[in-house]
Amino acid sequence: MSKKSGPLVRRLLHPAFPAVIFLVFLAMAAGLRYGLIQQYTGQIQANLENEARSMANSMEREFMVHADSIRRMASRLQKNPQMSEREWREDARNYLVDFRIYQAIEWIDSDLIIRWLEPLEANENVLGFNTAFNQNRRSALESAKQSGNYDISGVLDLRQGGKGIVIYAPVGTGLDNSGFIAGVFRMETLAQQLLASREPAMFRIALHSKGALVHTLSDFEGASAPMSHTVPVSPPSLEWQITVEPSPAWVNKQRSPWPRWTFITLLFMGLLTSLTTLMLQIIFKRNQVLLATRQELDEEITQRKTIQQDLERLESTDILTGLANRRFFMEDLAHALTIAERMTRQVALVMLDLDRFQMLNDSMGHQFGDELLVQVSGRLNQLSNERILVAYSGGDEFMICQQYVEDIDDVIYLLGRIKQCFGAPYVVQGEAHSVTATLGVAVYPQSGQDADTLLRNSDIALYRAKEQGRNTYQFYTEGMQEREVLRLELEKDLSQALANNEFVLHYQPQLNLDNGEITSVEALIRWQHPRRGLLAPGEFIPLAEESGRITDIGQWVVMAACQQLAAWKGTRFENLRVAVNLSGRELDDENLVERIRKALETEGIPADRLEVELTEEIFIQNIEHNLGQLSRLHDLGVHLAIDDFGVGYSSLAYLRDFPVDLLKIDRSFITNVTERHDDAVITRAVINLAHNLGLRVVAEGVETQAQLDFLKNHRCNMAQGYLISRPVSAADLEQALGSGVPETLTLTEPDL
Ligand code: C2E
Ligand code: CA
Ligand code: CA
Repeated sequence: MSKKSGPLVRRLLHPAFPAVIFLVFLAMAAGLRYGLIQQYTGQIQANLENEARSMANSMEREFMVHADSIRRMASRLQKNPQMSEREWREDARNYLVDFRIYQAIEWIDSDLIIRWLEPLEANENVLGFNTAFNQNRRSALESAKQSGNYDISGVLDLRQGGKGIVIYAPVGTGLDNSGFIAGVFRMETLAQQLLASREPAMFRIALHSKGALVHTLSDFEGASAPMSHTVPVSPPSLEWQITVEPSPAWVNKQRSPWPRWTFITLLFMGLLTSLTTLMLQIIFKRNQVLLATRQELDEEITQRKTIQQDLERLESTDILTGLANRRFFMEDLAHALTIAERMTRQVALVMLDLDRFQMLNDSMGHQFGDELLVQVSGRLNQLSNERILVAYSGGDEFMICQQYVEDIDDVIYLLGRIKQCFGAPYVVQGEAHSVTATLGVAVYPQSGQDADTLLRNSDIALYRAKEQGRNTYQFYTEGMQEREVLRLELEKDLSQALANNEFVLHYQPQLNLDNGEITSVEALIRWQHPRRGLLAPGEFIPLAEESGRITDIGQWVVMAACQQLAAWKGTRFENLRVAVNLSGRELDDENLVERIRKALETEGIPADRLEVELTEEIFIQNIEHNLGQLSRLHDLGVHLAIDDFGVGYSSLAYLRDFPVDLLKIDRSFITNVTERHDDAVITRAVINLAHNLGLRVVAEGVETQAQLDFLKNHRCNMAQGYLISRPVSAADLEQALGSGVPETLTLTEPDL
């Protein structure tokens, strides 16, 4: 994953985080619960205190009420000392009914003996009982007699059984005292009375008198809750305390449910929060994993796309030039044609071939060739736009497609722009080279309905343009197709020509300007075609070079020339030198020198009677090999001539290295040598150059006397051209030369 999670996010995603949340909630819940319990426990304590106080109060009140009622009985008896026992008992019964808590009401005489008693049942055994049964009691009662205040016994073991309390009210004070009225009540009854107003099974009450436990009242079984409250109870003449202990049930009833609910609620919330967090964590982590996977996937897709694009680009692009390749170009062309058909527009296909590229490539090396191709591609590619596609077809060929052509001027304009690409020289490996190109153009729909036809026809047009001398362009025309057919036919016929002995050599004399004699002739091949008549070498030599048949033809030429020389033996033509033309392809043949040697030997011809003409290109192509071949040839004694001198390669360095005997100034300089100053300058310069190098010079294509005079004036060694003679058959030559050696022969060659 490229995105790194921050430290906070990482902490939030820690597996312990939900547990921490839960623990925090747990602590909060426990704290709150503790606080609430504390608060409610205080509340309960206060409630208990209230209960205890109200119990003490009601106890006091009870005592006062009973004490008062007993005292009232006592004062009634005092006022009515004659009261009969029956009367008194009636009075007592009323009290019993009114108060209900008494075990018994008694009258005790001044001797402190119980005399009267109501009710009798369950109390008979106390009649006649002396209440001053111990010193303590006696002194308490005596002091009550004296003071007239009532006395409360404290908790006693009653004679009737059980525990109880007795309230004594004196009847009369001091000497007037005639005993006490006493009210006896049981502790149980008292307790019931006290607890009657309260819920049952709630309290345990411990009664202390002067610090000592005297009685325990309880309305529930089992242990009490661990809390209690003690309050003083102060009926007159008593020092009591009651300690109230609640039952667990009471405490529970007092207890609020809130601490528990708060605890549970908070705990639940904690659980919920931590679970939610856990879930969010899981979801988030899942999401992160998903995101990571997604990103990886995206990256892979991008990578694949790039690879795909690279592949497509590689498949459609030429690696060296970076231009579209042939395959892509053809697909695009086919597509362009379907569009053109719909829109009824034209499409132009331009086939471009660099002139003399092979020569440059061979002489300067592949590295040079590649660099030149790249530079040419660069300039051509500047033409490309949405209408124009430039592609590299291979070798030294380029293809250019122009779409949406409205009329032929569009194409002419494009051709002009292509030509501009070759206007400035190319600087390759630090040297400037002028490069030209030849173009063949085919236009849809007139020159072809489909891509393949257009391609073939542009190729034919290119071929024609090359034939016309390169650095030009040619549109495909209907006639070309026919000529193409002818060309193919011719090629087929060419394969039979040697076997059928259809070649002949014509000879063109070369006039020696020093002595006005014909000392040499150039052998020029013709093809006696069975149907088309005599064909010039221009019509079949290129074909023969392409197909490689030139080697055999060349061998035939050398052989035929030697045979002719042999035939002239013993005649006046015995001393003529014969020049034969060799094309570059022939030099590739390792057996060339040996074959020439054999031919000379076979016919018994001295080697210096044979001359070999080679164009400049040969001297700068495949230098090492060719130098070897030509040196061996020269060593044989064969003369070497440079043909078409001045039109080819610009460097003259080869003149220094090769064993050359003769320079043949190209016809193109001679044609206008008398009219054009620069041609005259060049011609003069070549003559001087040759002479300074110790070479002889021949001027080709001499057609006028003025040209001949110019050459003579500038000490050119020889002249060749129609002015002297056209190339003619050996027989015609013999005839012409037989009639003496004139200044100019006027032989004419049968029409080619
Ligand atoms: P090239 O070697 O430059 O031969 C001279 C060409 O110029 C010949 O054309 C010749 O007829 C022509 N010519 C000579 N004098 C004049 C003139 O005064 N005016 C004009 N306009 N033309 C003149 P041709 O015979 O058609 O030969 C053409 C080319 O074919 C030759 O050019 C040569 O390169 C090649 N060729 C001829 N024979 C052979 C051959 O046996 N082997 C090879 N490899 N190439 C040959
Ligand atoms: Ca020649
Ligand atoms: Ca020539």
